[in-house]
Amino acid sequence: MDIEEFRKRGYETVDRICKYYQELENYEVLSKVEPGYLKKVLPKEAPEEPEPWENIQCDIETKIIPGITHWQSPNFFAFYPANSSFPSILGDMYSDMFNVIGFNWLSSPACTELESVVLDWMGKLVGLDQKFHSDGRGGGVIQGTASEATLVTLLAAKYRMLEEYKAKGADEEKLRTLSTRLIAYGSDQTHICLKKATMIANILFRALPTDDNFSLCGETVKQEMEKDIANGLIPFFIVGTIGTTNSAAIDKITDIVDAIKGTNVWLHIDAAYAGSALICPEYKYLLEGINQADSFDLNMHKGLLTNFDCSCLWIKERKYLINALSITPDILKNSVSESGMVLDFRDWQISLGRRFRALKIWFVIRTYGAKGLREHVMKTHKLANRFRSKIQQYPDLFIIPTTPNFGLVNFYVKSNDSLKNSNKLTEMVSNRLNESGKIYLTQTKMREQYIIRFAPGSPLTTEKHIDQAFELLLKITQEVTVNYN
Ligand code: PLP
Repeated sequence: MDIEEFRKRGYETVDRICKYYQELENYEVLSKVEPGYLKKVLPKEAPEEPEPWENIQCDIETKIIPGITHWQSPNFFAFYPANSSFPSILGDMYSDMFNVIGFNWLSSPACTELESVVLDWMGKLVGLDQKFHSDGRGGGVIQGTASEATLVTLLAAKYRMLEEYKAKGADEEKLRTLSTRLIAYGSDQTHICLKKATMIANILFRALPTDDNFSLCGETVKQEMEKDIANGLIPFFIVGTIGTTNSAAIDKITDIVDAIKGTNVWLHIDAAYAGSALICPEYKYLLEGINQADSFDLNMHKGLLTNFDCSCLWIKERKYLINALSITPDILKNSVSESGMVLDFRDWQISLGRRFRALKIWFVIRTYGAKGLREHVMKTHKLANRFRSKIQQYPDLFIIPTTPNFGLVNFYVKSNDSLKNSNKLTEMVSNRLNESGKIYLTQTKMREQYIIRFAPGSPLTTEKHIDQAFELLLKITQEVTVNYN
């Protein structure tokens, strides 16, 4: 493909992207293909000869689109949203244009420096303390996902804890033994990425019980830590969540801070979904606890109109992260890095290579302005509230089990006789809704109760889509309950 053909195909592709977004509402949200569908229609071997672009483009239409679940559809209410936006897509196009592998400052100074600037912008919009900014001892970095952020902060925390023992005279052998006694905590609602991080790092993990609102309380943390210390374990890392995956619950962060005061336990805040809301004045009350944590992470790719992947991690003392992850072979040595005047983000992450993701953040913030981003977040929450109010008008059919937070509505179908029946009805309603192709949402289980989660977030979703989704829910629930009883 030469430049002139790229120009032609590039314009065609942008036209196709525009058409996709214009028609998105009409697609069935959830893909209906059978497992293995693609293997059946694609050749077994890679083509030996070059193929014309028309054939490749045609296969997007006929082979790929049928296997797409349309996350950007205005009728997608599953999981948590994963917004895209045109400025973000353009940012990724520029990133692809340069295709730099910005592992250290020298490998592309703009890639590193823009990342520091936009992460400082975002940190300030969220309201993070000065200590999280890059001009002090902390700073922000883009990770691929919140899972990676959890893993790297766990490793930084391990480093910090072992440093304490080293300072007290522990040798390598002793440090190895101590490592086996380290224990990390989350709650029974913490995202599974924490458990996975402890599996990767070979660290003990305990999920602590939550209260009636599925929040982790300081008292629980204190009691469980005391028990573990009495048994010879060394608590060193805890994740507090703002906006849990199941129900958007908020852990009692200030109480957790009190519970770990005077220890060397690292507090990481996972606000993968709900962190976006912190740019709005309505949620600033949460900052008191957050600003006492050691690290904080939010996914701009969930609620802030930035395409996947874009998880923003801030850390108060970057030296722990860097010391935990830095290895410098000769090939990476250079005088600028050695001068200590620059940041090398390869030392803040698992992989060496990294994409120029700061561009899309830069484009998004400048195109929408902080004001536009706040409006997007609050619009989403307003739409969720609209759906919730409709549910509340039918107390004989639906129950909202927990205090709703942010833009998530959880509910289940009521049954007068038993939990088992309620679960059966809820599952049937959820399956019927998704089979309809008109909307897509996910269900979960919380303390044995099936729950349907409704999480709007696409910028294309309007009140019309919310009302249509509710009417469909009502119709299906009425049919299912009549037939079942
Ligand atoms: N933490 C929370 C609270 C989440 O809700 C999710 C995903 O929804 C994650 C972490 C994992 O996110 P990621 O896919 O970025 O690793």
